[in-house]
This record gives sequence, C-alpha cells and structure tokens, in this order.
Amino acid sequence: MADSYFQPYISHSMRPFWNGLRDKKLLTLKCVRCSKSFFPPFFRCPFCLKKDLEWIELSGLGILYSWSEVKFVSPPYLIGVVELKEKIGRSIAPIIASSETLKIGQSMQAEYIKWQNMTILAWKPKK
Ligand SMILES: [Zn+2]
Repeated sequence: MADSYFQPYISHSMRPFWNGLRDKKLLTLKCVRCSKSFFPPFFRCPFCLKKDLEWIELSGLGILYSWSEVKFVSPPYLIGVVELKEKIGRSIAPIIASSETLKIGQSMQAEYIKWQNMTILAWKPKK
C-alpha cells in the first residue's frame, strides 16, 4: 500500500472525519432534522435528504461481518467489513490480524494507522 495512487480524495465537507482519525476518533454524521445517524458519513442525510448534519463520535467498536485476503499485491493484506456497534452502517477497511484467527461475528475495535501523510481507519480483533 505504498503507492500514492491509493491516496483518497478528501473533500472539504469530509475533512472532520479524517481529522478525527488523526486524533484516534471514529466520527460520523447525525441528521439534525430526523435525528438518524449513518455511516459512512455523507454530505446529505440518506433518510430525509436534508443537509443539516452534525458530527458525532462513535464507539470505535463493531462486529466482523465479512473479510477477504488481497493476494495480488506483496505483501498480501486483509480487508474486511465491520458492522458498527451503533448499528448505523458498515465499515470497509483493512483488518490487522492473522487470517487463521479471524471469525465472522467476533468483536472488533478500530485501529488508527499512520499512512503516508494521513491516518486511515483499520480494524483489529478486540482484546
Ligand atoms: Zn435526516
């Protein structure tokens, strides 16, 4: 994952999310109009389509929903889908673990990884 080709584009409206990762916090957006939260964060509420949103901090905990090993790069790495504890969405991110020890449904916790000039979200089994 050393190639800058994979560098995500960070829009102005999503800057707080990336700043949160830098501060080891998992943030998302909550709609002021309908009070629903959703993940991943998006500039418009997916339920009522309004743009009156506020940033909230999540627990950084979840359950492993699915995972796979990416083998076409060297070294291979794991990527997974984690259902957030708050039940407001799923996160797709690298998994920091040995593939032999992973089990669907196991508890996971967010991990914040320095990568190039930014911090990215990953998940690891909860201790
Ligand atoms: Zn809404």
